[in-house]
Amino acid sequence: MLSIQNYINGKYVAPVGGQYFENYNPARGSVYSTVPDSDEHDVELAVKAAEAAFPAWSKTPVEKRSEIMLKIAQLIAENIDELADAESEDSGKPLWLCRQLDIPRAKENFHFFATAILHYATQTHATDDVAINYTLRQPIGVVGCISPWNLPLYLFTWKIAPAIAAGNCVVAKPSELTPYTAHKLGQICSDAGLPAGVLNIVHGYGYKAGAAITAHPKAKAISFTGGTKTGADIARVAAPMFKKLSLELGGKNPNIIFADCDFERMLDTTVRSSFLNQGEICLCGSRIFVERSLYDKFKTAFVERVKNLVVGDPLNKDSFMGALVSRQHMEKVLGYIDLAKEEGGTVLCGGERVYPGGHNADGWFVAPTVIEGLPYDCRTNQEEIFGPVVTLIPFDTEEEALTMANGVGYGLEHHRYGLITCTRRTVLPINWRRA
Ligand code: NDP
Repeated sequence: MLSIQNYINGKYVAPVGGQYFENYNPARGSVYSTVPDSDEHDVELAVKAAEAAFPAWSKTPVEKRSEIMLKIAQLIAENIDELADAESEDSGKPLWLCRQLDIPRAKENFHFFATAILHYATQTHATDDVAINYTLRQPIGVVGCISPWNLPLYLFTWKIAPAIAAGNCVVAKPSELTPYTAHKLGQICSDAGLPAGVLNIVHGYGYKAGAAITAHPKAKAISFTGGTKTGADIARVAAPMFKKLSLELGGKNPNIIFADCDFERMLDTTVRSSFLNQGEICLCGSRIFVERSLYDKFKTAFVERVKNLVVGDPLNKDSFMGALVSRQHMEKVLGYIDLAKEEGGTVLCGGERVYPGGHNADGWFVAPTVIEGLPYDCRTNQEEIFGPVVTLIPFDTEEEALTMANGVGYGLEHHRYGLITCTRRTVLPINWRRA
């Protein structure tokens, strides 16, 4: 069985405590690897390696840092087959999606920041004739990067690449549910010539390894993407230590559809923005507000399209959706469907677990689900489900649509898939807050 290891100071090493836990293939519901159950001792080793690497790396000319990072990008591209296989096996998402989205984007993350550092510009502000103030952006030392499971290598590299491009050294932890591509990234970095200690990868549980990174006094900045509650926990620890903090948290995004939209284009986008990646993206539209005069036409066409989405084997190129990431997450999503019914909602399609059979018989699949008849302020419409479940809500006026769209505790995201405005006359919803 595959044994994933920590990557510290340029080498794969076992966790100090020698403990591992099991990692599942969600589409099969079976164990396929073990993962280090790291704790503060492993984090200590990783921070020491990062600290030791920092003086040389931060003084390495940007041209050289850029060259190494471009090599990492190139190796990710050259290994796309192997990385896409690993991502799909680990997360349950379709292989075609890993090949089209996750792995190319991971490559782009290194490519983008490798070239951005070559074109650094600074701002200056003159204070009359008295002074000129200017901004320098300098590396600060060891940075902790903690990422979630939904876009594993994509989001992991999105945190790491800018940090090391700027001359920092990193201690990173991927989600314990999806460690496989992060494990492979270590070897790629070594092969690309990244000096030992610049990137250190510690696997394990958030409450243990993740919390140890957040609390470590030498980790001067924490870059985190994940759930809102975890973000609040991290902020609580990091704030009194005056760490720099970047938090990208949960979402509950609205799609707003007006009667004068380009119907076919809107329909394609809405299906995709609702169910791509099993709905497990913080940008997915999960509340669909439809102008009342279009509501019945939209509902009929949308439900028809959703019923035809193929849910099944991630290795099958016809599968639009694969498995949810874990049994626990599948149960959470099914629990929200039960809640929607209790709150008076009507399930128009989906609403249940899917059993594709064969080697996916025990996998954690859920049918794409459309629900109507719920008020905008009920729990189903207020809490993040983070799965293939959307609700339909009619509206009469723009003001009403905006009030309901903005009426959640989450920040809203403005994104191609996150919010659709299919009209000539619409003003975009205000409040582009990030959580
Ligand atoms: P979690 O918050 O559960 O976990 C995110 C990461 O934090 C994981 O690596 C986790 O480790 C770790 N972690 C958990 N507890 C702690 C802690 N106390 N201290 C430090 N680290 C900790 O999120 P999920 O993995 O469930 O990801 C889904 C969430 O991510 C959704 O809410 C989604 O909206 C959000 N997200 C936001 C994005 C954005 O750009 N705004 C993009 C993508 C996702 P482990 O998994 O090992 O417990």
